[in-house]
Amino acid sequence: MIKPNHFYADLKDSYLFYNIAQKVNAYSTLHPDAHLYKMGIGDVSLPLCDAVIKKLHEAVDDQASAGTFHGYMPECGAPFLREAIADYYKNRDVELSSDEVFVSSGASDELGDILDLFSRDNTSLVIEPAYPAYVDANVMGGRKIVHVSSSSDNGFLPVPDDTVNADIFYICSPNNPTGAVFDRSKLKAWVDYANKSGAVILFDAAYEAFIEDETLPHSIFEIEGARTCAIEICSLSKTAGFTGTRLGYTIIPKELEREGMNLNSMWVRNRTTKTNGVSYIIQNGASAVFTPEGQKQIHDNIRVYKENAACLMKALDELGIWYCGGKNAPYIWMKCPDGMTSWEFFDLLLNEIQVIGTPGQGFGECGEGYFRFSTFGNPEDTVIAAKKIKELLKK
Ligand code: PLP
Repeated sequence: MIKPNHFYADLKDSYLFYNIAQKVNAYSTLHPDAHLYKMGIGDVSLPLCDAVIKKLHEAVDDQASAGTFHGYMPECGAPFLREAIADYYKNRDVELSSDEVFVSSGASDELGDILDLFSRDNTSLVIEPAYPAYVDANVMGGRKIVHVSSSSDNGFLPVPDDTVNADIFYICSPNNPTGAVFDRSKLKAWVDYANKSGAVILFDAAYEAFIEDETLPHSIFEIEGARTCAIEICSLSKTAGFTGTRLGYTIIPKELEREGMNLNSMWVRNRTTKTNGVSYIIQNGASAVFTPEGQKQIHDNIRVYKENAACLMKALDELGIWYCGGKNAPYIWMKCPDGMTSWEFFDLLLNEIQVIGTPGQGFGECGEGYFRFSTFGNPEDTVIAAKKIKELLKK
């Protein structure tokens, strides 16, 4: 008789988005005409930029003629896209060769699949509050997880101390849900610790394009020593509106080795076994993101989200409420007022002003008492929501 993967039984039910949907549906049933201000979900609201759309159309036409048709694509990514991504890193003085860049269908896929490189005996370290997929992917793989809590005392950016004992470190910067961004010295502390202990950092850079403070690192490879201890996982989902189009990339330096095994070569072997590459059409569309025209257009869109963030931050500043994020990230992480729990604050906002955010408790217990706003929503709604939050909390 076949044995299922019993580690699935260890997964905790995630009630976060289910509970939010239940509460919102109940409210809408009672108030069918109420307009809801949705600032909870982290999906984008603006369409793909013109440069990407043009390239997608061109690629569709290519597929219509024998002379330009593409069948299977190279498993690790089309050379034209791998080269464009490696060039993009040059903006940050990071030298990569194109065969250190692996094109993927998105960061979520890679965050799970990359664990194939590591033994089940390893322990994974997750800094909380955290993006829930890190924990669940490791539970499914039967790996032990250690949780490191962060708080407003360290700006939700902890550094390792000697008590940290793990093999795989997840670092997400800019962070979802807190919007906090590791500076160079804090990131260096993690890089040094990983090199010293032989751990590998999985660096989730899905929100790097939102960094505007020039002193902050976009890539872990801006930090000396990272090439011997880090893998970077990135995505065009939030950078360029690819949440429904699907494209990401993963950087594995050639120096990254453990116990004599080379992780870049292992990943080549993995991809050539487990995928047949990302669609030519999508890779062609994605290549436009890395052109000067594409960069300008995606940053025009990011500016719209930044204006949403500025509007919410202004309201919170005027109210004197503690928060982090917003400036270099599309999330704002605020302290709930008057000692309210995350869910009490959720109920208050929904019932009184129809604003929907995400209770911080859903990202780990140390998120209790905090609340996340996404700035990917509609600008008109965000302006009204910020005004309503100010009026409600002033009372
Ligand atoms: N990593 C973080 C921190 C995210 O917040 C998300 C999506 O919200 C992802 C990865 C997944 O990105 P993708 O759409 O590329 O799968």
